[in-house]
Amino acid sequence: MTQKSEGYIELEWTCPSCQSNNPGPQKTCQNCGSPQPDDVTFHLPGEAKLKTDEATAQMAAAGPDIHCPYCGSRNPGNAAECAQCGGDLTGGTRRQAGQVVGAFSTVPGPQVTCANCGHLNPASAQQCVQCGSPLIRPQNAVQAETPPTAKRRLPIIPIAIGLVAICGLFFLLSSLFKTETATGIVQQVNWSRVIKIEALQDVSKNDFRADIPANAKIGSCTKKYDRTQDQPAPVSTEVCGTPYVVDKGSGLGEVVKDCSYRVYEDYCEYKVQDWVLIDQPSLQGSDFNPQWPNPNLQSYQRIGEQDEIYTIQFMSNDKLLTYKTSDYDTFSRCQIGTNWNLEVSVTGQVVSISPIQ
Ligand SMILES: [Zn+2]
Ligand SMILES: [Zn+2]
Ligand SMILES: [Zn+2]
Repeated sequence: MTQKSEGYIELEWTCPSCQSNNPGPQKTCQNCGSPQPDDVTFHLPGEAKLKTDEATAQMAAAGPDIHCPYCGSRNPGNAAECAQCGGDLTGGTRRQAGQVVGAFSTVPGPQVTCANCGHLNPASAQQCVQCGSPLIRPQNAVQAETPPTAKRRLPIIPIAIGLVAICGLFFLLSSLFKTETATGIVQQVNWSRVIKIEALQDVSKNDFRADIPANAKIGSCTKKYDRTQDQPAPVSTEVCGTPYVVDKGSGLGEVVKDCSYRVYEDYCEYKVQDWVLIDQPSLQGSDFNPQWPNPNLQSYQRIGEQDEIYTIQFMSNDKLLTYKTSDYDTFSRCQIGTNWNLEVSVTGQVVSISPIQ
């Protein structure tokens, strides 16, 4: 994810002495004059106004405020000397920064009723517009919107269902793989041998340009979604999450959103020489002398995969049971009338055979 900045908003802090709300960058309470405490927590204002001007950006760039190591006064992040006592700020403590304050919204919060005179104040008011009393805002209502860290709860019920399903599947499979032992006498055999004949031909395919072989002839291309990445690309669409506010440590909050990029690349038709299946000649028989088909090949042809299947039928307790194998050696030992041990599955398939000693 790439974090993109939208601008800044002034956060607020609540004076611990009088409960008044104050603009974030203001270092003393506008109601009672108390200093902003060292461990102040900034919160979202009742009504956020996005600032994108250069002065605000520079103020934010100064970094978190520094507390003077001599008098404790709070100074801008880029100050060298304390504005209060003139002390060197080199050894001062910087305020914490980087915490997510909450989701960004320009929609004003609820109106605030003055506890003193009962006047209904707009969300943006930090003191009662009627009588000047501190306004105690239901901050939790604003902060409750804070999205990013939802607690993960263990999905107990789906896990339980999953466990039951796995146990059930295990029992089903174990019963399917259960076999019974029987004996049988070879009644009849069949063999079948198949070969694949392939020819080198021009084949039309589609792929992303980067994955097309160098010797291919590329036809028409269109843009197609390929991947999602953190950085923009020549042809990409930006996908961003909900903007949220990050504490800059100076009373300002940066409005940011996490973005990723859906990248589109050339997806092309191309022609390339490739081996194509053109025929599958086969031979069958019911003797012990299996043969491979033997076609005349052109120079641009080749033999691909070869397949051999041997079918042996056993008489077992008046029932005809069938065993199929690709092993010629086993087949050649299944002479008519010989006796064999059979492993038979619940579905009546012979899964393995061994000669009776
Ligand atoms: Zn105060
Ligand atoms: Zn100082
Ligand atoms: Zn009032």
